[in-house]
Amino acid sequence: MLRAVLSVGSNMNDRYGLILSVFEEFRNELVASSRIFSTPPWGVEDQDEFLNAILIVEVDLTPMELLRRCQKLEEKAERKRLRHWGPRTLDVDIVCAWVDGEQVVSDSPELTLPHPWAHARAFVLVPWLDADPQARLRETPVAELVAGLPQTEVDGVVPTDSE
Ligand code: ADP
Ligand code: MG
Repeated sequence: MLRAVLSVGSNMNDRYGLILSVFEEFRNELVASSRIFSTPPWGVEDQDEFLNAILIVEVDLTPMELLRRCQKLEEKAERKRLRHWGPRTLDVDIVCAWVDGEQVVSDSPELTLPHPWAHARAFVLVPWLDADPQARLRETPVAELVAGLPQTEVDGVVPTDSE
């Protein structure tokens, strides 16, 4: 069994609907999930706010098979890559994964695990903590990683009502 933490983001079109399509896809494999958070754009700032969420799933797949399934959801959302870090309909990243309790470590560019930026991004860590207050990235409690981020970044990640 593969347990994985998925980070989902959208800042184009029907953002709620796109995020909820990922919840729908994994509804039978969902272990825990965060609320949906609103987040100021990171990197490229002249674009709309993002919605972000974390899903913790347990799937009978290899990490690569799970990545392909995530990419299919992105394709279904007719994701267009306009510019790096720019607007996107749907982004589904694997933050980290465990096979039978062992953390998966991979430095392949196609699938890097744990995700190389996860430890530094409030829009990943704050929802992750919401989904699992005990979460750890490698050995470090996610709560500790959040405490180490600039307060303004943490304060920018705000839970929304999904209705
Ligand atoms: P980003 O998520 O960095 O904004 P993309 O979603 O376009 O950019 O992903 C670019 C590439 O990153 C994908 O083709 C994928 O193979 C690769 N990748 C490497 N590690 C991961 C990971 N942990 N989760 C998702 N994609 C990854
Ligand atoms: Mg991605």
